[in-house]
Amino acid sequence: MYKLFWGLLVIAFVVQCQHRDTNSNLKQLSEKAVKSSIEPVSAAYDAFGIDVSEFQVRDFSVQKNESLYLLLKKMDLSQSQIYRAIQKAKEIIDVRSFKPKQPYRAYISKKSNELEKLVWEPNKVEFVTFDWQDDSLLINRASRVVTKKKKQISGEITSSLYDAISDEGSRDKLVYRMSEIFAWQVDFFNLRKGDKFKILYEKKYVDGQYVDMGKILAVELTHMGDSYFAYRFNEGSFDGYYDEEGKSVQKALLKAPFAYDHRISSGFNPNRFHPVLKRRRPHNGIDYAAPYGTPVLSVGDGTVSRAGYYGAAGRMVEVEYHGSFKAKYMHLSRFAKGVGSGTHVKQGDVIGYVGNSGRVTGTHLHYGLYRHDRPINPLTVDLPAAKSIPQEYMAAFERVKNEMNPRLFSKDTVGAVSLGE
Ligand SMILES: [Zn+2]
Repeated sequence: MYKLFWGLLVIAFVVQCQHRDTNSNLKQLSEKAVKSSIEPVSAAYDAFGIDVSEFQVRDFSVQKNESLYLLLKKMDLSQSQIYRAIQKAKEIIDVRSFKPKQPYRAYISKKSNELEKLVWEPNKVEFVTFDWQDDSLLINRASRVVTKKKKQISGEITSSLYDAISDEGSRDKLVYRMSEIFAWQVDFFNLRKGDKFKILYEKKYVDGQYVDMGKILAVELTHMGDSYFAYRFNEGSFDGYYDEEGKSVQKALLKAPFAYDHRISSGFNPNRFHPVLKRRRPHNGIDYAAPYGTPVLSVGDGTVSRAGYYGAAGRMVEVEYHGSFKAKYMHLSRFAKGVGSGTHVKQGDVIGYVGNSGRVTGTHLHYGLYRHDRPINPLTVDLPAAKSIPQEYMAAFERVKNEMNPRLFSKDTVGAVSLGE
């Protein structure tokens, strides 16, 4: 009864379930059917590989506050049927992920007038099939075939980068991802009129319908007359963006230990007059006036060398990076779970939370960066780039570069080449 066709990749879970004991009366089903975006693949099979000639097919969408329970109740299943279906579903899907507007399709047997199958689409790519057959319930999670196509666009900024991007469907993500790629080179709050860009990226399609943006493959940004390039290179242990020479565009350390910008209340200053001690004392770090409890992120991959209470520093985490760098994060309210001496942390991991422990006049984070144990100013130091592409991969990188080179873009087009999965 459950049929596959070539276009479907049915994955993973098939679970046997309970007896289906009572008739489903679907007469009272809401007629608030929504138009499905799925076109039947052939006369008999729909996009989910189900032979629709055997069924009355009804399309719905999840309503506000409609849970799987309410949805099945609407299908007139009995309490015990619903209970068992939900128990089974919990093993396979997150039953809390039913959200308004998600489509679902009911298949009512023409012979028995009973609900026999239900297909729910949590997103445009995945779908879940509930299949009551004979004396069991099968629940399958499946994915539709995603085709990727290359698209290239270019533009010049007149008001904002956002407005300059012609692809409306991917604008938000393109702006966000570009700002991530160039986080170390370009201040995206400071882009200006006349700055130019060229982007080569992927677009994902299901059945010819656009569903999502894929990866940015190459990008050129010209900011205040300087050109910045980034090529995506994914081979061996390398998966990232690299400039024309194969150097990573991501630096090894974050600029600031926060996910969002926070005001600097006191900068790096070797001659500062200390407000509490009332005498001249160097300020070997940056004070950030971040709210109490703000997560503090490790600026790089490293190892926690100290985490404890250290007098004036209060609750402090000290992390050693790349041999020559060390950072101190002071006055924390608490440490992140699992952070202690010897803990390995990744760049961007939360290591603690902003507080006011130790000798302070108010809540803030003191972030001190050291190179070979000498304090340095994190805002002005020229930090080393992350790993470059080594010689043995350079030929492969050159091929990628030549294929993706934004300089070769002629005009905005959707590439005819399908990249596959
Ligand atoms: Zn400080």
